[in-house]
Amino acid sequence: MDGLDINTMQFMSTAILLVLSILMTILWNENREQPGAGYWCAFSVLLTIDTIISCFPEIRNMESAVYFFNIVASYFYFFLMLGCFKFVGLNINKYFLLLLFLGCAALNGIGAILELEDGGRRSIIVGFNTIALLLSSYAVIRLDQRVYLIEKYFLLILLILHLLIHAYWFSLGFDISNTNEILFTRSVTPMYMLLILITIALLLLTLGQIRHQLELTRNKGLRIRAALTDAVRETNVANISKSIFLTNMSHELRTPLNIILGFSEALKMGVTGPLNDKQKNFVDNINFGGRRLLELINDLLSLSNIEAGNLEMTMEKIPIGDLVSESKNELEKIGKKYSCVIYFVDNFESDEKNNYISANRDRLSQILLALVDNAAKYGSRNGSIWLNSFILNEKYVRITIKDEGHGIGKEEFQNVFKPFNRAGIDSKAVEGTGAGLAIVKGLVEAMNGKINFESRKSYGSTFWIDLPYFTN
Ligand code: ADP
Repeated sequence: MDGLDINTMQFMSTAILLVLSILMTILWNENREQPGAGYWCAFSVLLTIDTIISCFPEIRNMESAVYFFNIVASYFYFFLMLGCFKFVGLNINKYFLLLLFLGCAALNGIGAILELEDGGRRSIIVGFNTIALLLSSYAVIRLDQRVYLIEKYFLLILLILHLLIHAYWFSLGFDISNTNEILFTRSVTPMYMLLILITIALLLLTLGQIRHQLELTRNKGLRIRAALTDAVRETNVANISKSIFLTNMSHELRTPLNIILGFSEALKMGVTGPLNDKQKNFVDNINFGGRRLLELINDLLSLSNIEAGNLEMTMEKIPIGDLVSESKNELEKIGKKYSCVIYFVDNFESDEKNNYISANRDRLSQILLALVDNAAKYGSRNGSIWLNSFILNEKYVRITIKDEGHGIGKEEFQNVFKPFNRAGIDSKAVEGTGAGLAIVKGLVEAMNGKINFESRKSYGSTFWIDLPYFTN
């Protein structure tokens, strides 16, 4: 192999290393959190710079600069070693590292001052590089993850071959006499080949690491999904058990409760003879408590059915003109009970009245009664309630229920639809269980509708429901 061949090889190695270091930089840039990739990127970039400079022996071997380039060359081996340690997860003593980096710079500096002959200069650089290669090999041997098995042995073989070249140079005592010079020069080319292959091995390890990480993330995702499916299944089973339990319990509770209510009614009516005032008061309390308990049980059962999706809903076509009017009598009874006036305002154009919603009549009536009951209950005595219905947009028809009551404080807004939460109302002041709106919300949503409200303390509240409508 003559001089020209070596130069051609040198240029080719440089071009390949340039491409590899660009790839390494891209990989590191995309996956900065990957351990080791940053150091290996520094290794490949410094190696490429050194190789580029080596293409110009007149610069590389310039008297004043040769020791500086030696430091650069040793430092990229140090980065190779650091990357290997980081990749494997081994710690390296920071004082040792400092000693290595500073010692390398210092010894090369001393060499420059003493103007050592070539053999001495080379022994400094090869000495440091050998330490870095030995430590890198140690780190790679400690890599015990099976996923990197091929890459591990590939890199290890390359490092050992590299060390063998160093051993060969040591055996020559860096003596560049006639024959040895040729051998020495010839071994430089294989060394560049080795460095290229080492860079490729590092690239493969980095890629393997990314692939491994992706697989871990994917497996984690699959495990989470499986756990979620299990949790959902368990929750469903628990929900079904809860519903069965509640249905049975409420049946068991309602039977004795109805006996209590029945007999207390009978006592009130004087079936067993007239009652004195004290007895009347006691019986009233029994009856009141019993009714409240029954209400609570019924609410509990409704909520549990809604949660478990056990609502019986036979959907019917209800013309939007009839949405409120069908419940008008019942709603007016509520008005009478609380001495309020209810105004029914229907804003539909005559052609709009033919549009219809798909809903269950009884449930719709239950929703309106509950909302109007609240408007009356929390409204002002002898006040007014407005029921307004109109087409909201091309999708929904809206019914609003507006009262002039004490309103709801902003701080309680988030509690209004929570089951058994009375949004700050004192239970003794106003009768109720706090379940009504949670049930209403469940029913509205089961009909694909929406419910919301606006309220201002001391000014009153407006609740509304939006139901999807269809054109005939
Ligand atoms: P309940 O009326 O049994 O307490 P609801 O679920 O119907 O239960 O209502 C929850 C809470 O929301 C009520 O306790 C009350 O504080 C508040 N609320 C509901 N409707 C109105 C309204 N029209 N005006 C003021 N507050 C209301």
